[in-house]
Amino acid sequence: MPRAIVEDPQVTIEREQSYLFRDDGHELQEVSWQGAACRNAEPDLFFPISAQDLITRTRALRYCEACPVRAECLRVALADATIVGIWGGTDEVERARMRAGSRRLVAV
Ligand code: SF4
Repeated sequence: MPRAIVEDPQVTIEREQSYLFRDDGHELQEVSWQGAACRNAEPDLFFPISAQDLITRTRALRYCEACPVRAECLRVALADATIVGIWGGTDEVERARMRAGSRRLVAV
């Protein structure tokens, strides 16, 4: 009979919140989410159902405004177009515009 593997929930959260990404195209670094302002926030806040869900969105953005890892969070989300929800004070539509804008700058 298979046994369930019991892991400290905090260890699980920290492992899942660690995200390897390329920094400046070279080094792989791990973001420390220890100081993330949203660390204990309700996760649903960061996934507004639609762009019209302004109350949820505004509440999430308040966390991002004061977040010490906001720049790293945004960088992670910009590096992966499949990431949805509020990351680094932006939603996926805003990040798509930022990516498109940077591609236009490179093309000029
Ligand atoms: S920037 Fe926003 S979404 Fe990212 S870790 Fe901070 S509070 Fe959370």
